[in-house]
Amino acid sequence: MEKSCEDIEQMLVDYADGQLSPSDSSEVAKHLARCEHCRRLLAGLQKSLELAGVIWADGLAEIDNIRIPATRKTRRIRWTRYAAIAASILLVVTASVVWRTLVRPEETEITFAEIERKITESASAARLLAAMELLAEYPDAQAIVNQQYRYIVEIYPETTAANEAKLRMQ
Ligand SMILES: [Zn+2]
Repeated sequence: MEKSCEDIEQMLVDYADGQLSPSDSSEVAKHLARCEHCRRLLAGLQKSLELAGVIWADGLAEIDNIRIPATRKTRRIRWTRYAAIAASILLVVTASVVWRTLVRPEETEITFAEIERKITESASAARLLAAMELLAEYPDAQAIVNQQYRYIVEIYPETTAANEAKLRMQ
């Protein structure tokens, strides 16, 4: 059966991130080829993910290089910056707290895995949250944004990003 725009919207984030199975991915691609609405949505999403990636990867020094004229968008960017700072602080705090509890050497290996898992989760949740904050600029994208907030809360419940997402869910 042909998928509707709503079905496709549910898959766009994973599509943009290259996380879909080959068959889902080709289904989305086929839909995109004939649907301008979803193409526009994807373009906005990709821009948001890119921007979030730049903010995340290059840290805060690079933020002034991103030129976004509208005041509203500048506010969003600032918020993202705070999210990135908060996430970085969380990573350091989490790592140091876990580090200090490393009393028995034989547990070192599993605890490091745990640190890594927590760091990865916090980073993924913060990255996704930042992307959704940017995507929220597009009125058409509300369904995706809310869906992704729910996703963050469900998949990364222990992160600060999940608390933020909870507050932002509509
Ligand atoms: Zn469509």
